Amino acid sequence: MAPERLPPGSRIGILGGGQLGRMLALAAARLGMRAHVYEPAAEACAGPVVERLVRAGWDDRAALAEFASRVDVVTYEFENVDLAAVDALGDVPVRPGRRALEVAQDRLVEKAFLSGLGLPVARHAAVDGPESLATALAEVGAPAILKTRRLGYDGKGQARLGPETDLAAAWAAIGGEPAVLEGFVPFEREISVVAARGIDGAVAAFDPGENLHRDGILHTTTVPARIGTGLAQDAVLLAGRILDALDYVGVMGVELFVTGEGLVVNEIAPRVHNSGHWTQDACLTDQFEQHVRAVCGWPLGDGRRHSDAVMTNLIGDEVNGAPGITGAAVHLYGKAEARPGRKMGHFTRITPRD
Ligand code: AMP
Repeated sequence: MAPERLPPGSRIGILGGGQLGRMLALAAARLGMRAHVYEPAAEACAGPVVERLVRAGWDDRAALAEFASRVDVVTYEFENVDLAAVDALGDVPVRPGRRALEVAQDRLVEKAFLSGLGLPVARHAAVDGPESLATALAEVGAPAILKTRRLGYDGKGQARLGPETDLAAAWAAIGGEPAVLEGFVPFEREISVVAARGIDGAVAAFDPGENLHRDGILHTTTVPARIGTGLAQDAVLLAGRILDALDYVGVMGVELFVTGEGLVVNEIAPRVHNSGHWTQDACLTDQFEQHVRAVCGWPLGDGRRHSDAVMTNLIGDEVNGAPGITGAAVHLYGKAEARPGRKMGHFTRITPRD
């Protein structure tokens, strides 16, 4: 049986109303779809571009059920969606599914899942308190990085450990939460693959991008990444294996370290990804449209790169310089307040590919 394709005019529910939700809604509108957004926070930058914004908590089962009753499919823009909230949505299809959330919400579960697929991950050990941190450090070796199992992002909930680090202080620094200790991977560079899987099982990956971070936050993504074709192929194949194993529908970001021995998977994000924003200006079909296509049951679009690209994030008050940026595609998220560390927009410069 051919998979069901939602017709233009259908309604897509998006859990989360930040910039990713906003750009998903804009891509949905271009395909004639209508976006509804569910967001508890007072400010939702997706609000102005959607048909309906529901402001209610993740524990409001009635609001979630009502939200779901008015849409044809539900997706999400962040991986920490409460699973109980997903269950409260009822029978509406949720894409990508629940399993991807379960895996991506817990770093230890994620590492077990990736290792189970035979994919390389950093040496690691579970940590439940200051004593087990000492055992884990002996096992993993210094230098290492202590990360909370849940709810870490943009380098938050992390502490670096050297041979001299006070372990009790490191444990306190991450808030005393269940954690995982990871051996430091001596990487040459960081890359990511943003890949999509359709409802028919077809997989399409955008070209790997090379990522530079500043203060734990993505600063630039440059495409193509400075890696050989063999490694680029490895990265894409590896992403495809992850998507297939999860029976995934939608776009995923896979963050990788490039080392002298090959690729190591850092983490996966079951959603559109900041390191895929360059696709808006350098591909016929960008990551947002690809995600909308997938969750609506449409065949995936053509994500080939027509240009080389450098995407730069505008963080905090860097956004004030946006009107002066020329020769680039500028994307601003319409957030009211430019707080330090807050992603306010990005711009992408393209050049014809060789
Ligand atoms: P994460 O939140 O896990 O993506 O980590 C944020 C950043 O910290 C990564 O993009 C890397 O630059 C660095 N990092 C995280 N884990 C490791 C590791 N095991 N070895 C080396 N660098 C790491």
